[in-house]
Amino acid sequence: MSINDENNQLKLQLTEVFDLVRENEKKLKRFESIEYKLLEADSFEKLLNILFLDYPSLFKVDFTSLILSDTKLKFSHFLTSVIKQNDFNRVQLLSLPGEVEKLERYGHKICFGEYEAEKHDWLNNIPTEQTISSIGVLPLIRYNQLIGIFCCFSSQPNRFDSSSGNIFLERLGKIISICFESVLNREELTLITYTDPLTQTRNRRYFDQLLSHEVKRSNRSLSSLSCVLIDIDHFKLVNDNYGHQIGDEVLIQVVKRINGVLRTHEILARFGGEEFVILLVQTANKAAILAAQRIIDIIHNSPFELSDGQVLKVTISAGVSTFTSRNDKRDCKLVQEKLIEGADKALYVAKDSGRNQVQSSGEVILE
Ligand code: GH3
Ligand code: MG
Ligand code: MG
Repeated sequence: MSINDENNQLKLQLTEVFDLVRENEKKLKRFESIEYKLLEADSFEKLLNILFLDYPSLFKVDFTSLILSDTKLKFSHFLTSVIKQNDFNRVQLLSLPGEVEKLERYGHKICFGEYEAEKHDWLNNIPTEQTISSIGVLPLIRYNQLIGIFCCFSSQPNRFDSSSGNIFLERLGKIISICFESVLNREELTLITYTDPLTQTRNRRYFDQLLSHEVKRSNRSLSSLSCVLIDIDHFKLVNDNYGHQIGDEVLIQVVKRINGVLRTHEILARFGGEEFVILLVQTANKAAILAAQRIIDIIHNSPFELSDGQVLKVTISAGVSTFTSRNDKRDCKLVQEKLIEGADKALYVAKDSGRNQVQSSGEVILE
């Protein structure tokens, strides 16, 4: 071989290497952009949007699906409503032992290959008219445990090429796993922070933030906001006569009954002790009084059946106050205080007038 030939061959090889480097650089940029997005996502909705919308368009695959192992039903708790609301029908949460074993069969390794309907149909969850020719399965591993798989489907026969990109894909799999774990931790922490441990309803901390948010909103939209303060009648006697544990059970049942009749714009929280509060957005005073009466009725209409077989009659009293904004320059903090103060005063009147009833202090007056 002449020196010239050798030079030409070398040049050709160098060009191939440069092309490969350039190709990998582009690939790296694509992976980096999706990874940054995933790391920035602070909700399941955002994570799923990235995996189902951004990923297919950036990586030119026809569609993607996600399967998560969920034996403790942790993902289900937070994801079920997100999946429903966004129609994310390509998510599967596996909680039964047999289902999880099925997932384990995919092992801990990335696999690419030809799409075989019999073997792979369950991975995309919904029947599709689209022809799928090839499939890529990315394991999601955390602390050596397979927590799920991310699947990519393509109509091109050899879309997934096993020779390149494995390092990027492995890293992506780790990042997806970490992001899901981190959002789950975040959601669990938020839930604990804002939930009353006994009744599992929202707590005072949640209510204070909600009230501040809703007062500002009703101020902007010049709409009515009502507050109903509820107090169980003679609850001390329940504790004294039946014991503290039965008292706890009554609190839990009261919350269950109230939640059973609440509408979407009516939000219940435990205010403290045996007192609860309901915030009714876009609700005028008259409608709030009716809502309070509905709740009073649901408590006193039928007795409470306790776990030890005893039957107990319980009643509650309620106080209502309403803020209707006619001027968006109101001092919101003052409105919050006046709303609570108004409901509290009305509750006092309800107690004083014989209990098991609702009273209202009407519209909040701001000097
Ligand atoms: P009233 O009709 O005037 O509201 O009378 P009451 O007995 O309900 O009011 P009081 O304020 O005298 O008593 C409230 C009782 O609620 C006293 C307290 O021990 C009880 N309580 C508060 N939180 C809890 C709880 O988490 N569990 C139980 N079992 N009791 C609680
Ligand atoms: Mg009380
Ligand atoms: Mg009470």
